[in-house]
Amino acid sequence: MKKQLKNVLAIAMAAAMALTAAGCSTSTEQTATTEDAAQTEQAAPEDTEENVLIMATNAEFPPYEYYQGQEIVGIDVEIARAVAQSMGMELAVEDMAFDSIIPALLSGKADIGAAGMTVTEERQATVDFTDTYVTASQAIIIKADNTEIAGPADVEGKVIGVQLGTTGDLYASDVTQTVERYNKGFEAVQALSQGKIDAVIIDDQVAKALAADNADVKVLDEPFTTEEYAIAVKKGNTELVESINAALAELKESGQLQQIVDKYITAE
Ligand code: GLN
Repeated sequence: MKKQLKNVLAIAMAAAMALTAAGCSTSTEQTATTEDAAQTEQAAPEDTEENVLIMATNAEFPPYEYYQGQEIVGIDVEIARAVAQSMGMELAVEDMAFDSIIPALLSGKADIGAAGMTVTEERQATVDFTDTYVTASQAIIIKADNTEIAGPADVEGKVIGVQLGTTGDLYASDVTQTVERYNKGFEAVQALSQGKIDAVIIDDQVAKALAADNADVKVLDEPFTTEEYAIAVKKGNTELVESINAALAELKESGQLQQIVDKYITAE
């Protein structure tokens, strides 16, 4: 995404506003017609650099982003694609280590970071966040037969595995000297099931997805913290934040955002 950003965004915002207005005041039938028209218009965006919104992510984070065969799928990918679409753009997904996402935004290698990324004060020093789109929490995973750790207070001083550079890493470092950092959440869970560490602190839905694949471990009911996910952009890129927020608001209002979440996360 380069030179023509301003124009594309202006058009996208106008389109988003038109859709919002249509959604507020018309019947379902009319809304569908408006959306159909918008989709047809956007069906063949020019295949130029300006028309591509580059999303940096770490595709080791089910159900938000993960590989299905060769393809990266998940909640963040679908939300970002819907956002790009409403901006008249195509989405390109770049997979990288989680702690490379912010540097990729700062260097201009990527336009947005969508990676189940928690809004933190520290990150706000270098990036701007859009409105939040998911409330999540940090969960604790332990060995299924562990009787010692029953809640957050019990992980103090224990050997805790985390994904490098995540909020789980931050919180674990607050409660113990022995934090084992892995590039992938899956590697932390593997170390746990091999008895190398006592617990893993990681995002709740990811914890559930990883634990579902491993009978040796279980997720504690009580979370460590609650947090909010948002899309990150390079600091000062207000225009882009505003366009994304307009698209997110539309996705929330139309119910599409919830539909995407529900497709990947079954209610308990
Ligand atoms: N939500 C966590 C964070 O922002 C983890 C995100 C991730 O690993 N993709 O640090």
